[in-house]
Amino acid sequence: MSRVRSKNTKPEVSVRRALHAAGYRFRLHRKDLPGKPDIVLPKYRIAVFVNGYFWHGHGCKRSKLPATNTEFWRGKVARNTTRDQEAQRQLAEIGWHVHIIWTCSTKHGLEQLMQLLQGRKPGIPV
Ligand SMILES: [Zn+2]
Repeated sequence: MSRVRSKNTKPEVSVRRALHAAGYRFRLHRKDLPGKPDIVLPKYRIAVFVNGYFWHGHGCKRSKLPATNTEFWRGKVARNTTRDQEAQRQLAEIGWHVHIIWTCSTKHGLEQLMQLLQGRKPGIPV
């Protein structure tokens, strides 16, 4: 299992590649934004988090908690989820659209992101 906010994971890299191929400009791991989003599209004010399904508690089949030490893991995941929600709330407050891509369904999340981008008018980069 990887760390909570590990950088440059395989799904993250494939999302970056697709965005780059489609001609979108983006920045990585911006420390000046709440939750340090993995990918930021400044012209579109979109913050993307590429979230591991286990650590960030997706709730899907694959994110099931281990049968041993279940309460320990539940607590850990719950703390991450709370932190994620807080960052998302703060980002929304300062006018960012947050898009989550789950690592169990990267392709789907990426398709949604592309649709989102196509439907948004670019503005002055932030
Ligand atoms: Zn999942």
